[in-house]
Amino acid sequence: MKPGRSEPKHFHKGIEIECVLKGNCETHKQGKLYLRKKNQIHEGVNDSKKEVVFVCFTIPPESKENTVYMN
Ligand SMILES: [Zn+2]
Repeated sequence: MKPGRSEPKHFHKGIEIECVLKGNCETHKQGKLYLRKKNQIHEGVNDSKKEVVFVCFTIPPESKENTVYMN
């Protein structure tokens, strides 16, 4: 995620695991794992000056049908 970019509030109809490989921002800290439960609303906001790199695993796999954006 580039500096200044954000991903709007959303949730998944499944589980999402995010692992932050590089960078620190308001919503993602380097080395941390985030578990988003089914229907748990979350967002990504890179308020830092550096790129934030993370990998996501979603179960079931992410698709338009199982990811719902709030606006
Ligand atoms: Zn998500």
